Amino acid sequence: MGLKHDQGIVLRTYAFGEADNIIVFLSATNGKVRSVAKGVRKTKSRFGGRLQPFMHVDLVLYEGRNLDTITQVETIESYPNIRTDLDRFVEASTMLEVADAVAQEDEASAGLLLLLHRGLLALNDGVGGADLMTVYMLKVAGVLGLAPALRSCAGCGASSAERFSFDAGGVVCSSCAPSGAYKLRDGVTARLAELADSDIQNLPQPSAVPPSETLGVTRRFLEYHLERKIVSMSVMQE
Ligand SMILES: [Zn+2]
Repeated sequence: MGLKHDQGIVLRTYAFGEADNIIVFLSATNGKVRSVAKGVRKTKSRFGGRLQPFMHVDLVLYEGRNLDTITQVETIESYPNIRTDLDRFVEASTMLEVADAVAQEDEASAGLLLLLHRGLLALNDGVGGADLMTVYMLKVAGVLGLAPALRSCAGCGASSAERFSFDAGGVVCSSCAPSGAYKLRDGVTARLAELADSDIQNLPQPSAVPPSETLGVTRRFLEYHLERKIVSMSVMQE
């Protein structure tokens, strides 16, 4: 046992004992990590506000038998604008919730951490809204190896695939469509494909397809595969 370095984005925190917090963060090399910050709930904590959700931090940890203890914190990025805009805050919370739901302990998560970082940077730069969240979730699905088929039938590869199936993993043609596959409105599949291929910090121009529609499909697709609801999003979509 001894000291070690790690860095990542704080996903959430919760109270532990009298004045301590458990800090759950996403590390590039170690996946989802739980650690203890001692005395962090005292007014004069030496950690200040650096161990809050969304903070991207560099840490020195003292290895413990069960949990490591954080001994030093340096801020890498604080994404300050997210905290001053309610819409951005809710979207950022959704990004954290999704990352938290998919990250595993003791499993390298460099791709997921980079995606979360770039998503938070986009929000910090004032970009937000349904298209950004759709791109984020489609890319999370990609990191998990669950990227939905969007250009051709997930079953047979046929190019005319107008139904969407969570079970089959994307769009399907009428002969491959399992029960529960549903028809998407014109243009939705093409828009989803465009969003899936786009850069999260450089979104494509809006299209005729309502962003809420592509987000709705993407959200339900991810929820289906995660077998859980994305709770923060219920605040976002009225
Ligand atoms: Zn097919």
